[in-house]
Amino acid sequence: MTRTWLVAGNWKMHGSLAANEALLGFLLGQISGSTAGECAVCVPFPYLEQVSRRLKGSAIAWGAQNVSEHAQGAYTGEVSAAMLRDFDCRYVIVGHSERRQLYGEGDAQAAAKFAAAQGAGLTPILCVGETLQEREAGRTEEVVARQLGAVLERGDFGNAVLAYEPVWAIGTGLTAAPEQAQQVHAFLRKRVSNATRILYGGSVKAQNAPAIFAMPDVDGGLIGGASLVAKEFVGIVKAAERIER
Ligand code: PEP
Repeated sequence: MTRTWLVAGNWKMHGSLAANEALLGFLLGQISGSTAGECAVCVPFPYLEQVSRRLKGSAIAWGAQNVSEHAQGAYTGEVSAAMLRDFDCRYVIVGHSERRQLYGEGDAQAAAKFAAAQGAGLTPILCVGETLQEREAGRTEEVVARQLGAVLERGDFGNAVLAYEPVWAIGTGLTAAPEQAQQVHAFLRKRVSNATRILYGGSVKAQNAPAIFAMPDVDGGLIGGASLVAKEFVGIVKAAERIER
């Protein structure tokens, strides 16, 4: 079974119309389509119009970083999956550790968001990962199995994307060793289809991407900080293009 790779940027709460214009312009000049894989940017909601206009017809897909579990209604400040479809989003990140830690999102809510996204025809990128305390207590597999399990209890994983993001490696400059990532990816792989793309996320840079992407169950990356640095992001995409399966 050959799996395609995916490199998805998570801009988090960064950007401005002018800065995005410069970043997108550079990416468009450097990234051409690859039949073996795909690249995407997940941007703040207000920039979806700009990003969809600039990237339409290009090799770069786009998406959002969060979605409501509700279809519509009195949910002030929330954005539905159908609204994301209106902007031709392909992807939406669900259950990012910052959502879990800072906004109290639990496994059940992440699973409901996953189902809402899938129901609207979006491809969710489900984030799972342990904290440092959990890793040190030997609970990594238990934690990621529980987070993924909440989604699988509700239905099929379908063609969604899984992202293993150890919380201790996000935005810290600490990266899981390629073998550490592979160990968890192989564990997750047993719970989803062989065709499911499993991304690694956590301080991936152009310099460390090749070794991480060389692992047999790592199908690309979810990239935070480095996705805002044009040359870094392009370097990571180029590393993914060299993934051999
Ligand atoms: C992320 O936000 O999903 C992420 C992996 O961030 P960073 O690359 O900055 O660690």
